[in-house]
Amino acid sequence: MNTNSRIAIFPGSFDPFTIGHYAILERALPLFDKIIIAIGVNSTKQDFFPLETRINHISSIFADNIKIEIDTYTSLTIEYCEQKQAHFILRGLRNTTDFQFEKSIAQMNRELLPQVETVFLVTPPEYGHVSSTIVRELIRFGADVSRFIPGKLHIS
Ligand code: ADP
Repeated sequence: MNTNSRIAIFPGSFDPFTIGHYAILERALPLFDKIIIAIGVNSTKQDFFPLETRINHISSIFADNIKIEIDTYTSLTIEYCEQKQAHFILRGLRNTTDFQFEKSIAQMNRELLPQVETVFLVTPPEYGHVSSTIVRELIRFGADVSRFIPGKLHIS
């Protein structure tokens, strides 16, 4: 990758990766040379799926796509962008709550590192209600969540 490559970071917990995440990625692919799906590892946040399960799941979905890389990070997202020489952060927007939250983070990130631009894609309406939080809740009650999850997720 040369220094002019358009590298985007798609940061998130992806606990688990859903069809909502997939839809955003699919639409973002033509915009960038490379997208790094970066799982933020946060020691204060309790994981539902082990990190390894999430990595394996996402890797299996995108095994054939050379534009997508999967990684984990523990630093601030902008520090990770610098490390990866990425000039874009990709985020999905479902509703006004997402917008309120994301706006402040994007503005703060821009103040701290102006060369990184946050790019938002609005979710397709049919996936507006899909969130990792709700999928986790369904799993806790033993519901079949396969329609909300791309590929094969190992649920023990
Ligand atoms: P975080 O904990 O950082 O919010 P998530 O894994 O929940 O991480 O989400 C990662 C990104 O994917 C966020 O930008 C989020 O808004 C977006 N996203 C999650 N679900 C959907 C969806 N159904 N449609 C569009 N974007 C989504």
